[in-house]
Amino acid sequence: MHLLLVGPPGAGKGTQAKRLAKKYSIPHVATGDIFREAIKNETPLGKKAKEYIDQGKLVPDEVTVGMVEERLSRDDCQKGIILDGFPRSVDQANALSDILQDLELALDAVVNIDVGDEEVINRLSGRRVCSECGASFHVEFNPPQDAGVCDECGGELYQRDDDNPETIKERLVVYSEQTSPLIEYYQERDLLLVIDGETTPEQVFERIEKELDALE
Ligand code: ADP
Ligand code: ADP
Ligand code: ZN
Repeated sequence: MHLLLVGPPGAGKGTQAKRLAKKYSIPHVATGDIFREAIKNETPLGKKAKEYIDQGKLVPDEVTVGMVEERLSRDDCQKGIILDGFPRSVDQANALSDILQDLELALDAVVNIDVGDEEVINRLSGRRVCSECGASFHVEFNPPQDAGVCDECGGELYQRDDDNPETIKERLVVYSEQTSPLIEYYQERDLLLVIDGETTPEQVFERIEKELDALE
């Protein structure tokens, strides 16, 4: 199962990707998580990416595409992958198509989690992320059992720097200008599954499962 998850920031891609990765026992590759790990470790990649992430802009393709290519080339991606947060532009989608072709892999589906702006802003404003495993929680919609502590691994939860009102606004502009054309792009290629994302995480997951089961 080789899948992409697309949708605006805060749609619930990470939340669903973690469940799908568990269900299919395949890697969850999230470009945002890779960047945040690099920032935490103060690597050259992290320093470069931080300049853009803090402004809500896309990290340049020279940095991002090579990083994804390296990750997808590893053996664990042969049997499947959940790619979350990449591609984020038509250029990246074309680059991905070349990478997959070189690796003799093909996409099975592109899941578009459809959520409106107002809901996205509410989700991003209350998001808390695990500093260890990247799991997402929400202070109101999906609170952890113990405040500030990850249910999955016990790691400390924090609020992302880019989940502030000003950067959220810019990320939504970037989504609408650069990322949303992917919906048409994958529809034309007959890969798109549209899922209503404005229900509970469990319901969203069930709908994705149903759509994927129908493919097989
Ligand atoms: P979100 O939760 O908003 O979907 P991500 O964790 O996927 O956010 O991404 C956070 C930030 O990392 C983005 O705003 C962008 O700056 C950078 N980023 C993530 N993926 C990509 C990508 N494919 N291309 C360029 N920049 C990216
Ligand atoms: P993305 O990876 O698309 O940026 P996340 O998975 O991090 O999105 O989810 C964004 C925020 O919304 C998190 O706080 C998460 O707990 C919450 N969330 C995810 N799915 C739902 C849902 N179906 N209903 C309400 N809140 C959700
Ligand atoms: Zn955790």
